[in-house]
Amino acid sequence: MLDQNIIEQLEALVGKENVLTGKVDLVAYSYDATADLPRQMPDVVVLPTSAEMVQEIVRLARRNKIAIYPRGAGTNLSGGAVPLKKGIVLSFQKMNAILEVDAANLTAVVQPGVVIAALNSAVAQHGLIYPPDPGTVATATMGGSAAENSGGLRGLKYGVTKNYIMGMEVVLASGEKVRFGGKTVKNVTAYDFSNLFVGSEGTLGIITELTAKLIPAPKYRRTMMGVFKSLADAGNAVAGIIAAQVIPATLEIMDRMTIRTVEDFAHIGLPVDAESLLLIEVDGMSEDVVRAEAEAVMQVVTGNNGDLKTAETDQERDQLWTARRNALPALASLNNMVVLEDATVPRSRITDMLIACQDIGKKYNLTLGTFGHAGDGNLHPTILCDKRNQEEVARVHKAVDEIFEVALRFGGTLSGEHGIGVAKMKYLGDELGQSGLNLMRNIKEALDPEYILNPGKMVPLREN
Ligand SMILES: Cc1cc2nc3c(=O)[nH]c(=O)nc-3n(C[C@H](O)[C@H](O)[C@H](O)COP(=O)(O)OP(=O)(O)OC[C@H]3O[C@@H](n4cnc5c(N)ncnc54)[C@H](O)[C@@H]3O)c2cc1C
Repeated sequence: MLDQNIIEQLEALVGKENVLTGKVDLVAYSYDATADLPRQMPDVVVLPTSAEMVQEIVRLARRNKIAIYPRGAGTNLSGGAVPLKKGIVLSFQKMNAILEVDAANLTAVVQPGVVIAALNSAVAQHGLIYPPDPGTVATATMGGSAAENSGGLRGLKYGVTKNYIMGMEVVLASGEKVRFGGKTVKNVTAYDFSNLFVGSEGTLGIITELTAKLIPAPKYRRTMMGVFKSLADAGNAVAGIIAAQVIPATLEIMDRMTIRTVEDFAHIGLPVDAESLLLIEVDGMSEDVVRAEAEAVMQVVTGNNGDLKTAETDQERDQLWTARRNALPALASLNNMVVLEDATVPRSRITDMLIACQDIGKKYNLTLGTFGHAGDGNLHPTILCDKRNQEEVARVHKAVDEIFEVALRFGGTLSGEHGIGVAKMKYLGDELGQSGLNLMRNIKEALDPEYILNPGKMVPLREN
């Protein structure tokens, strides 16, 4: 427990109303969206309202060797926001201002607590969008999604968060504040700091401001559903669409288990006899190009034994995306523990990976559904189990080990978008090797030698 004196110093820094120590509050910050991780209450939750406050909090924490856990909306799926060593949770819910929308330069400057959907609402009146689109756009924050380098449904055509962060203000573990990047399209001054801090999961510095890139909103789009009798046909259609040189904004897949569960959950008329579905959206500025791309998609889908349905109205389109966004909540409703992975493979191995996931589910006698961003090779095998059944939980762990082993064997990676956090740290050496782990530690220790920023996440501690 923290000394009362530290709490009083925090209250003096940010105001009493921005320091939470009640048990109900501490419980609320003891977990994030990740299943299967022990909960840990922090000693205190602090809600800063300025970067200067963040600097002072960091200096206080460093002097007293207290861990700091930055937190956005807590929707990450790798345990990134869990305060493993107690200490301070730094919540950005009060630093949620959109500081500027510069339509002439296609940029926006935001505080880290801005919710992604709020930024999109603010820029829509200028005919612009901020493309990164995780399933949690309506809750996840700009700071949290930058720290995770979140991807989402539009990654295939538009890229991921790192492609849209042009500059930042970051408070370092020393308490210094650095600013880098900005509104210029080109900037090769110094190391590429934005790309160092994007995806660093709160372990290298605390993001207090971001400059985001915006793009013109596409004017036309076509949303389609490909229905397949086999996973292999669906996987081949994914490869075929890309080979036809069509890059859809979205190219999502669901297996049979996910289709049935979503249909039971949302009642939107999905074909429950299908073995697999592809949800495909093409978009652009030219109606002719969008129409031609939709036709090319249709040829590939039918050429791979699929049926293609096109959404004719906005309502039909919304229903299809509701189906996709409901995949995880629907699966999660089936049991009391849901383990969602994001093993990612080269696109050419998508079919192999889908089949491997199903086989692993059968081998360990588990309920396993797979959905995900097929166009990116980014699958979300999702395992449901009863957390009170220790024997079943042990089988889940074995299955997860095997999923990652297969993903790496197929030339893939441990995480396409959910990050390493606590959940995947034990596999990191399998992908990076010892020299890669050493490099991670060297970077971490250069910036945060005392491991006060999000300790126990992403970077394994040294063994001695
Ligand atoms: C149903 C569901 C669907 C999802 N779909 C997707 C998806 O499609 N694609 C995808 O990529 N992810 C997805 N996610 C994961 C998650 O939503 C994203 O990682 C999200 O962007 C995290 O934002 P957050 O504000 O909740 O961050 P948090 O969970 O609060 O934090 C995430 C990490 O960032 C750090 N952090 C937070 N704020 C700061 C800051 N200001 N400075 C430094 N570090 C900070 C935290 O310490 C933590 O390590 C999904 C999650 C759920 C539950």
